Amino acid sequence: MPGSPKTVSARRRMVDIIARRGVRDRRVLEAMREVPREEFVDPGFEEFAYEDAALPIAEDQTISQPYIVALMLEAAELSPDDRMLEVGAGSGYAAAVAGRIARRIYGIERLPTLAQAAQGRFRKLGYHNIEIRVGDGTLGWPEAAPFDAILVAAGGPAVPQALKEQLAIGGRLIIPVGSLVPAQTLIKIVRHGEDEFEEEELGGVMFVPLIGEQGWSEDGRRSATNHLPGRSRNLTLPQMIAEIAEPLPNFDDPAFGRLFDRFADRRVVLLGEASHGTAEFYRARAAITRHLIAQHGFVIVAVEADWPDAAVVDRYVRHRDARTDTQPPFQRFPTWMWRNTEVAALIEWMRNHNSGLAEMNRRAGFYGLDIYNMSASIASVLKYLDEVDPQAAKIARERYGCLTPWQREPSTYGRAVLSAGYRKCEEAIVQQCQELLQKQIEYAAHDSDEFLNAAQNARLVASAERYYRIMYYGGPESWNLRDTHMFQTLEHLLEARGPASKAIVWAHNSHIGDARSTEMGSVRGELNVGQLCRERFGSEAALIGFGTHTGTVAAASDWDGEMEIKRVRPSHRDSYERLCHDAGIAKFLLDPQRDEAVRRRLLEPKLERFIGVIYRPETEVLSHYAEASLPQQFDAYVWFDETTALTPLGPEHHRPGLPDTYPFGL
Ligand code: SAM
Repeated sequence: MPGSPKTVSARRRMVDIIARRGVRDRRVLEAMREVPREEFVDPGFEEFAYEDAALPIAEDQTISQPYIVALMLEAAELSPDDRMLEVGAGSGYAAAVAGRIARRIYGIERLPTLAQAAQGRFRKLGYHNIEIRVGDGTLGWPEAAPFDAILVAAGGPAVPQALKEQLAIGGRLIIPVGSLVPAQTLIKIVRHGEDEFEEEELGGVMFVPLIGEQGWSEDGRRSATNHLPGRSRNLTLPQMIAEIAEPLPNFDDPAFGRLFDRFADRRVVLLGEASHGTAEFYRARAAITRHLIAQHGFVIVAVEADWPDAAVVDRYVRHRDARTDTQPPFQRFPTWMWRNTEVAALIEWMRNHNSGLAEMNRRAGFYGLDIYNMSASIASVLKYLDEVDPQAAKIARERYGCLTPWQREPSTYGRAVLSAGYRKCEEAIVQQCQELLQKQIEYAAHDSDEFLNAAQNARLVASAERYYRIMYYGGPESWNLRDTHMFQTLEHLLEARGPASKAIVWAHNSHIGDARSTEMGSVRGELNVGQLCRERFGSEAALIGFGTHTGTVAAASDWDGEMEIKRVRPSHRDSYERLCHDAGIAKFLLDPQRDEAVRRRLLEPKLERFIGVIYRPETEVLSHYAEASLPQQFDAYVWFDETTALTPLGPEHHRPGLPDTYPFGL
């Protein structure tokens, strides 16, 4: 097995992950353990060779994600005697893996530099059963046909007829197909007879375009028919949006969730909202979340709520032991953000879904990313240590005592630090966090979920202490600290739930749309969770924004004020919202990847509306609009032309005879 012990074990780990994701074919897994992927990536990317991710290679192309290579090869059902054709050989990695299984591999690559580099690699590695040629693979390789298997590693608008014809009887063709670039459906075609083909869908995938006579043309049009929407005619931007808009079905229709299958292979799917009080945003996110959990194995729902509050819900949805000593969750302003009918329904759904899963690690959890409930976090750490290490609990009590005067009103802490030398709190609190983390092995032996909860609470207290201290000075630092904490919490969750785990994030558009493409980043120096996810996960992160034209919204007029139902003013004439409104479709998914011309037209920055928990229509432009470049900020945008305020849970939602903690039955 080539490679240093470190690369060999990294490769093994990667293959283990692929096996855990469901690839069973032992020949495929064995071949992937043999082929040194680091030899196929571009210089500088070697350290990422064993991340289960697609990576860029020369000429703006990609080396496919190992899991997808495995999935396609498994579907191709290769045997040692087989002859296989690969269209789009790229780096040569998939051909190399196939060559470890099958007798002979024929690879076609349209870009000569890539084909030459792949050939060089095969020579160096002594892989003599692979032949590469430069050409248009949509026409196949007639002289070498028929093939037992054909793999196409680029996405075309339809299945090229030539490839079907070059399949042997019994042969398998695996190809991504779809009118959306780069999102397609992976299709398996088995040839049973001269004109008898059976077709099966294997799921959503993302490939670079298949360019050729029976694929796309160079400029992204369909070669044969030349009819990609929105290009050839002189359309206004709203008309172009309307042409590529995908109307949304009802929330309860399974087709609603399926529209988002194109993001199902991502490690993190971030779902935004343009206000904290709009029912449609919650309903849409719940429908997408249910689909991604039930159909695609997502196990983390991480929301813009406080960690200790969400932890109470997590106990409920994952059927963990309830604690009787915790405060009812979500008592802090704005309570309607989480105490509402939509969230309550999702929580019940998650609990039901999880009840059918015996293994705790397969159950979907509900987690909070935010930092505001410092006092509950302190109480939670102390309670945990009381149980696992009473001596450490005593020390922690003393350390956290430093913050006692501000637990109720932490926003005044910053001023006190300035005037009274309370800086010593920082050191004690950081030390407390470090000590707890250092005892991970000892503590986690009792219960890893409980340890994760305590560790996250200790981290939260450390972040919150800094947050309230620097908030006093103003500037972008406190925002950046909060979003960095939220992102790191997400990372800790992904780590804790395992390398194959996938997460859904619910947070405001201002947190999940890439800050670099908005005024937040370009003018105010603020970063956010969406940006950090893109920097960390690249194309494995999907950032999905939400928007509306008008309607009603649940919001307050001032911080800590009462919730009111307010009317949302019709969108500004220079905003993205107005363009979507003018498209004339009540609700739709806008995926700018569908049409490069539309995407390019949308790039130029425009106003975008941000409503938080406070809405001030009277000063709307100043208070709620900022410039952004929407196609850079989000991977896709979900539109509801008219929206309604969400319904908070009131006393009528209390079940008689149940404690105050209902609706979550906790
Ligand atoms: N399996 C490859 C790997 O692991 O490196 C994947 C390479 S990439 C996803 C797809 C390749 O298809 C690109 O290198 C692109 O140049 C090539 N391609 C696109 N259209 C093609 C065509 N009609 N014929 C041959 N190659 C094509």
